[in-house]
Amino acid sequence: MTTYSQRVYQTLKDKYPEQEDFLGAVEEFFQAIQPVLEAHPEYEDLAILERMVEPERIFIFRVPWLDDEGKVQVNTGYRVQYSSLNGPYKGGIRFHPTVNLSIMKALAFEQTFKNSLTTLPIGGGKGGADFDPKGKSDQEVMKFTQSFVTELQKYIGQDQDVPAGDIGVGGREIGYMMGQYRRLNDAAGGVFTGKPVLAGGSLGRTQATGHGVVYFLNHVLEAAGDSLAGKRVMISGAGNVAYYAAELVEELGGIVVSLSDSTSAVYQPDGLDLNIVKELKIEGRERISRYLEEDPEAKNFEGSLWDQDIQADIALPCATQGEINGDQAQRLVDNGVRYVVEGANLPCNKEAQAVFKEAGVQRAPAKASNAGGVAVSALEMAQNSMRLAWNADRVEEKLQAIMQSIFDQCLEACKKYDLDQDYVAGADIASFENIAELMKLQGVI
Ligand code: GLU
Repeated sequence: MTTYSQRVYQTLKDKYPEQEDFLGAVEEFFQAIQPVLEAHPEYEDLAILERMVEPERIFIFRVPWLDDEGKVQVNTGYRVQYSSLNGPYKGGIRFHPTVNLSIMKALAFEQTFKNSLTTLPIGGGKGGADFDPKGKSDQEVMKFTQSFVTELQKYIGQDQDVPAGDIGVGGREIGYMMGQYRRLNDAAGGVFTGKPVLAGGSLGRTQATGHGVVYFLNHVLEAAGDSLAGKRVMISGAGNVAYYAAELVEELGGIVVSLSDSTSAVYQPDGLDLNIVKELKIEGRERISRYLEEDPEAKNFEGSLWDQDIQADIALPCATQGEINGDQAQRLVDNGVRYVVEGANLPCNKEAQAVFKEAGVQRAPAKASNAGGVAVSALEMAQNSMRLAWNADRVEEKLQAIMQSIFDQCLEACKKYDLDQDYVAGADIASFENIAELMKLQGVI
């Protein structure tokens, strides 16, 4: 690392020693952008990195709510408004027990750079709560969400900060958020994205992240003179990202051999029947292990999918951050995986990243490969402001063009700095240049 980035990183580490996830995201990013820092010594005078590692604003708040037994429960809510350099803060809300300040900052940092790659006018943010929707009744989810928004609504607005979904937050929760926001303010139309279509959401938003991942994968394969036809694809997760990626993989001739949820994984060497998965996980709220009731030939493994020995060509981690560690990455390499395209944010830990790099596995980082979701969120904002709705084909075409542009930006960044085709470096460099130049032209703010 340059002495400049080393110094900024060390200061950050001294200041927030307990924020491991955030420090990890910053460290990976700093390593990738070294050639840019060498080419732009003026960034140090402008304190570009020092300003980049500090979010513009963070809200942390109490979320009290009454459970079905009438007992008072209390959770902690967060909204990290990381950067508004390029438009309203934009990023999802996550409801999951692992949510804490460090993860929120890490995800908001990533989101800022991801959003800049979409080339659309959005800043970066992230929010959430350590609320576990698992096992909660619909009424409890609604009451919690209403309490969460009662506080959050003070800080958001269609030109200020536009939240969306993330892990644990889908159409149902966004619907409740809209309702509560509308009750406390004026119309809520443009304040959230990922809304149900009936409530002003964009067609194609639900599928967008998963589809975008597969469009990106296709570009990676094409650039390597390869294709999806006949490839064995392991996918983790079974939410919207994983499921809609799986559908498109299958449509393009790949074989989806696995999917998983937080307790187990299903494996079917001949390819999973996605209709069964859809019924269980997209239309219902069932465990994936029930897949075997319809397809008894399949196998079900408790624990992590990545601990299983499965022969595959491609891995799409679409579950959560840090889901693949070094040993698991090595297992994937040993079992034939040559491409890893990230659907989840930050799914590979530091050791896993190193294993893939060492083995020559091509890895597409989430800030490039899963940007399709937030990109279509920005298209939803555009449709809402114009008071119109595009048809599904129009949205999908735009999504394809955006994923192509992100891929091109990654390759161009590599070319510019004489790097081999490295999507991690490409995505970090291209997005860093975007943000650094935006900072430069807006002065010291
Ligand atoms: N949570 C998604 C992400 O990580 C989408 C955010 C959005 O649509 O604002 O990019």
